[in-house]
Amino acid sequence: MCYAIPGKIKSIEGRTVTVDYFGEERRALNEIQNLTVGDYIYAQGGYVVQRIAPDDAREILDVWKETFFDLQDVDVRLSRIDLDRSNLSSKTGLILDLALEGRTPKKEALEYLLGLENEAERNYLYKSANFLRQKHLKNSCCVHGILEISNFCRHGCHYCGISAHNKGVERYRMSREEIIEAVTEAVETYGFKALVLQSGEDPGYSVQELCDIVREIRTRFGVLICVSFGEVGLAGLKELYDAGARGLLMRFETSNAELYASMHPGQTLATRLEHLREAARLGYLIFTGGLIGLPGQTRKDLVEDLLLARELGAEMFSYGPFLPHPDTPLGAHPAVSEAEVLNLLAVARLVDPTNAKILITTAFETLSSNARRLGLLAGANSVMLNVTPVRYRQNYALYPNRHYRSEDIQNQIEETIELLGSLGRAPTDLSVKAG
Ligand code: SAH
Repeated sequence: MCYAIPGKIKSIEGRTVTVDYFGEERRALNEIQNLTVGDYIYAQGGYVVQRIAPDDAREILDVWKETFFDLQDVDVRLSRIDLDRSNLSSKTGLILDLALEGRTPKKEALEYLLGLENEAERNYLYKSANFLRQKHLKNSCCVHGILEISNFCRHGCHYCGISAHNKGVERYRMSREEIIEAVTEAVETYGFKALVLQSGEDPGYSVQELCDIVREIRTRFGVLICVSFGEVGLAGLKELYDAGARGLLMRFETSNAELYASMHPGQTLATRLEHLREAARLGYLIFTGGLIGLPGQTRKDLVEDLLLARELGAEMFSYGPFLPHPDTPLGAHPAVSEAEVLNLLAVARLVDPTNAKILITTAFETLSSNARRLGLLAGANSVMLNVTPVRYRQNYALYPNRHYRSEDIQNQIEETIELLGSLGRAPTDLSVKAG
């Protein structure tokens, strides 16, 4: 099973390569020595992860060729804007016309769109976002795996079920051997080309130990490794980069500094942003975003959240609903609705029409059984599968009843491939910022 389509190198300019996929060109960052024009590669998240033997690549491409153009046709058909506009208010029509021309609506307009309730208007927003996704990023959808290596955490974030204060959760910490075993399975058995390693902020691992794990993975496998261990310090970020990590998944959670401080005792937004900015400077691909529906959070805040991800140069926007966990201080605070999450994903696409991978988060999948289909048709183009060993997975209980808490990897894959196929999406993953 294969989640990326092999591409052929067309040209090389320093560390940037141009790759051909059945006549479509994408750019990617390359660090493989001696790569030459005509070589076949796999890339994920805009990063070349592996060179492939030409015969193997041609064989795989032959299989894909059959379906690649069919998929594109389906996607183009589903992305048409064919709605009756008579149900639209002139304000919504005007804002979306502007967005469809590629201009980012003003903050007030973005805020207005986030608040749309009327179904016809919302559908037009989703269609517009989906149209822009198709126009700029075609039918590629990135499929990453996430491995949750530990649920120990030294912080007391008010919304989080694995906060240090929650005595009701059984704690686990995977050993280096267990991590390597899970990665081996994800890469060799299931074909993942990009993995996120995540944990609470766990003092039980030293940065050195985490680096050793990342280094071993990068030495043994052609895979993009994205780290999500919380605030490891600026020096820690550099060490992890040097060990081979190339993505950082770190949400700023909220761009409102006061709200941030009230949710995260002893932590500041400034420190979080310092990490994100330093990571971008070091060359990490940035995966960031926030929670939707924190108490006291306004639509204005959410607009600022979206603009902040863009300002940080995020490769992936990760925004998911806050879901109440009964054993936390926010246990009684209600979650937002499916429509509010979809509005946000669609508005995220208007904010970054040409580049962002917009993720359907597991939290959204937990909130709505139709999250993936609806989200992918509202501007999103990225999903994550859970590759944490099932024996640990239910203990990574950020919130209750997490989707995929017990589903084996094979099932998740089959479900994903089937859904992507029905929507005309292909798991190519090579859209990269210009420059
Ligand atoms: N230690 C890492 C990973 C944190 S857990 C870090 O600091 O980045 C991963 C994400 O889960 C968090 O960024 C948070 O946005 C999300 N999360 C935690 N509790 C949640 C809840 N109750 N509902 C929805 N998302 C939650």
